[in-house]
Amino acid sequence: MKPPGPEDIRQWDADHVWHPFTQMQEYLASDPLVVVGGDGHYLIDDRGRRLFDGTSALWCNLLGHRVPEIDAAVIAQLGRFAHTTLLGTTHPGVAMLARQLVEMTPRGLNHVFFSDNGATAVESALKIAFQYRLLTKGKEEADKAVYLSLENAYHGDTLGAAAVGGVELFHDVFKPILLPSLKAPSPYCYRCPVGKAPTDCSIDCADELERALARADGRVCAVILEPGVQAAAGMLVLPEGFLTRAAAACRAHGALLILDEVATGFGRTGTLFACQREGVTPDLLCVAKGLTGGYLPVAATLATDEIYDTFLGRYDEYRHFFHGHTYTGNALGCAAALATLGLLEDGAIVADVDRKARVLREALAPLAAHRHVGDIRQAGLMCGIELVADRATKQMLVPGERTGYHICLSLRDRGIFLRPLGDIIVLMPPLSSTDAELQHLAASLHTAIVERMGA
Ligand SMILES: *Cc1c(COP(=O)(O)O)cnc(C)c1O
Repeated sequence: MKPPGPEDIRQWDADHVWHPFTQMQEYLASDPLVVVGGDGHYLIDDRGRRLFDGTSALWCNLLGHRVPEIDAAVIAQLGRFAHTTLLGTTHPGVAMLARQLVEMTPRGLNHVFFSDNGATAVESALKIAFQYRLLTKGKEEADKAVYLSLENAYHGDTLGAAAVGGVELFHDVFKPILLPSLKAPSPYCYRCPVGKAPTDCSIDCADELERALARADGRVCAVILEPGVQAAAGMLVLPEGFLTRAAAACRAHGALLILDEVATGFGRTGTLFACQREGVTPDLLCVAKGLTGGYLPVAATLATDEIYDTFLGRYDEYRHFFHGHTYTGNALGCAAALATLGLLEDGAIVADVDRKARVLREALAPLAAHRHVGDIRQAGLMCGIELVADRATKQMLVPGERTGYHICLSLRDRGIFLRPLGDIIVLMPPLSSTDAELQHLAASLHTAIVERMGA
């Protein structure tokens, strides 16, 4: 049989692949990007085009594609074994990775529960928090337990993670089947939920979080939030001090603090973890995306001694954590993660993120004057540019016009791949991007916006 050609691939994709978060009718009418290769920060498509990967393979790639050290580590592990189970057995890679994660993360998080992706890391944290409440406070208290999360939060798409999500567009459809959870306002400064302006802000949205905890009167077993940036909501950068206030409120009301660093972890915001900016250590920390450099699905939920120890007991006390996945602790994934963390270990790459963020910020500065650019938000190498119909009223663009989508589509002809969040253009380039690449990204985006929306 002759091997399939590019047209076969396009046909079979159109006939059979149901793409995530994709309106298939629109996709089928478009000219899809078929990636056949990767080279550093570039994707290579079936027509030989080279596209700068400006969204880092949907936020998980840190150091580009075909990184020699990561490739070699995965290949070496293939020569040993690909996968076994972590249910009651172990292997060197997972033990080394757990130790490395404990060393890199804020002090006190000494125990690592592995899973496969961001959503499962969050599910694990939520279930650990519930069972911890059950084990420490008993059934009557646990029966009343609820989670508290923020509006505009995104923690993944499984039912538990979606229940603590707050992005209307993604989560409202499923509301009837989601566990009820409490919500506090999102620190969306451009559209402040409590009607403040940056000049008179004293993080009043954090007051609301405190009040919600007080009203719940001890029922909240955990507060979950994305430190630094609410990413999927459109790169909403949290005001400095919000996290500190949230952490203090959790302590005051006996709720665990779960931090979801799935998007912000591993250097994205300029520190290894965003919570380190404010010196906050959570009770549970979720990491995924960048952990394997964007190679393989591995995630982890880190826990304190206090939580871990609570689950210890004789077998027939049934205190153990009743949760797990078949591919947990996958050896190829652990090898990729160890190699990735090894490349971050000397700190040079992360230490340079603040400087690169400045390069990007300066390159984007001319865009701020454009009459359809409402807000440019940035934390390290996470950036969101909110396009609006009218700057004075902050009125949004008409969703059906697909402005963000068309701007990103046109960038493909300029050698750049981006995926927007509606009319918020997201820039999330690899940490190892060069200054010239960042400048080219910003300048090309500016040109594409002017082409689509006028000067
Ligand atoms: C992407 C993301 C998730 C979900 O991760 P998946 O690997 O896609 O399940 C969870 N939390 C945050 C903050 C994310 O950005």
